[in-house]
Amino acid sequence: MSRGTTFKQCGCRDESTGRLLGRTCPKLRRGNGWSPAHGTWYYQLELPPRADGTRRPPLRRGGFTAKHDVGTELDQARDLLAIAAPGDTETVIRIADAITASMRDTRTLPDPEQVRKADAAGRQAACRRRLARGMAGRQEEAAARDRAQLRRAHPPVPQAPSRAYR
Ligand SMILES: [Zn+2]
Repeated sequence: MSRGTTFKQCGCRDESTGRLLGRTCPKLRRGNGWSPAHGTWYYQLELPPRADGTRRPPLRRGGFTAKHDVGTELDQARDLLAIAAPGDTETVIRIADAITASMRDTRTLPDPEQVRKADAAGRQAACRRRLARGMAGRQEEAAARDRAQLRRAHPPVPQAPSRAYR
């Protein structure tokens, strides 16, 4: 799973083009690190593709003044995705759907407890579907067995030999 990144961004614009410099503003840099005074913290985390297989934009949020806070929210987002067992694509996609929806509607991450509950409910539903399919399969087998038994108990009456061959 993606570890995600944190970075700083500011509202400075290129003087000639008027375009936002984003994270390329030179004032954001100090030596090899980030300037403590300029810009605000952002995080970005790659999300799994949508259920239909199309690429989902990464989770990205910013405006944090403290590096600690941006790290905390990135950790929370990662923890949410980690609720899905490794390799359980169906669940991780469902969780990413919940994250995207919650971010769109409330600008906050979904409550991990809710996500866990939804995940458990989803797994139960999938389990019930599998059980129902298995049951239907077994009922079909039983019906086929009954039909075979019926045929053995009442074999078709052999045709009386034709007189012509006597
Ligand atoms: Zn700047």
